Amino acid sequence: MSLDRLLRGISRPVAAVLDRALADRELTVDDADLLLQAQGADLLALMTAADVARRADKGDLVTYVVCRNMNFTNVCYVGCTYCGFARHKDDVDAYDHPMQVLVEKGRDAVARGATEFCIQGGIHPGKDHRHYHEILLALKAAFPDVHIHAFSPEEIDHGHKQSGMTLEDYLRWLRDAGLGTIPGTAAEILDDEIRGVIEARKLKTARWVEIIEAAHRVGLRSTATVMYGHIEQTRHVAAHLGLIRDLQKRTGGFTEFVPLGFIHEKNRLYNHLGARPGSSAPEDVRLVSVSRLFLRPQIPNIQMSWVKMGTKLAQVALLAGANDFGGTLMEESISRESGSEHGENLPSEEMRRLIREMGRTPAERNTKYEILRVFEDPALDPPSLEPKRDARLSGPARWSKPVVRARAGRAADPVAETR
Ligand code: SF4
Repeated sequence: MSLDRLLRGISRPVAAVLDRALADRELTVDDADLLLQAQGADLLALMTAADVARRADKGDLVTYVVCRNMNFTNVCYVGCTYCGFARHKDDVDAYDHPMQVLVEKGRDAVARGATEFCIQGGIHPGKDHRHYHEILLALKAAFPDVHIHAFSPEEIDHGHKQSGMTLEDYLRWLRDAGLGTIPGTAAEILDDEIRGVIEARKLKTARWVEIIEAAHRVGLRSTATVMYGHIEQTRHVAAHLGLIRDLQKRTGGFTEFVPLGFIHEKNRLYNHLGARPGSSAPEDVRLVSVSRLFLRPQIPNIQMSWVKMGTKLAQVALLAGANDFGGTLMEESISRESGSEHGENLPSEEMRRLIREMGRTPAERNTKYEILRVFEDPALDPPSLEPKRDARLSGPARWSKPVVRARAGRAADPVAETR
């Protein structure tokens, strides 16, 4: 089959939208809805167009940030139906870390090269605005150079309501205590009908927008996210993208857009409320591609989530419009406790390997997407800062015996030792 015939397999409406995107014309919400349903040849064309756009927008570097997730409490009474993380305060595995534990985690993270702490927790009914402020003061005092990326709009809402301040004053108060940027989580789908089912007691769309706009106004930039693969339809995702793009036109405060697939295994939304079992691989890739084409040029950084997708599909997303591999995380519990099995720590050296396997060049960035270091030559990579690997991962003990003895300064004869 000739290339020409292959191209003729693409449907006319999809070809027309992709042509417009590659001519740098803005796509409509209806265009996004159409592309979010692309299959077969249409999907391959969509991925290719997004890859071309990614190269034009961001070149061949793939960035990542060395960061540590810190979930300071898992006590939360909001009751989102997709959440496997929240606990009642009397549950045996409920926790509420004191500052000392957070500082210890920070110390470990800095020793492993972290430039960012990403801090989020449950909405603890016994905590108020002062608790968020204390976390910032404690960590900033111990690690003045580390960027603090913290508190979802739901947490901002919770603290603000108890603070007695205006929203902007409250955000300035947090900023002055060390808050650097905020995660654009708690967005899920910015449609109140969907939110009424998946998170009836969480903040509504207008409040999410109000908080993000206020944050951007006081100089706190944020990320933007979407959670898909549950009860929403493509039109909801398309409208969500439209809302995010409009907001970015007003403020310019988003640093990146991150599609987050729903993790379905351990929550009520899938097990009792009839949600789909998370997103499919084509759905994951489609959303990365559509995000690239729809949000350009307003949001040039499209991140894929290796925690949700797994690292192999995340590599494929690099061919479909993504330019960022996200954070190393070091620990992750929100996705894991909903059933994700894709790990909780992806060290820098693993990031670089995965990126290079796709023929691209890795680069470490900070939270605001300033490039800290480009890793052109693998031979010049720095040594790993990770703790030594668990001995149980080295295979049967008899194979490692000679190494152990050699390290102890005794003559080691590998053949004799393994006989
Ligand atoms: S998603 Fe967040 S706000 Fe909702 S129940 Fe879980 S921890 Fe609480």
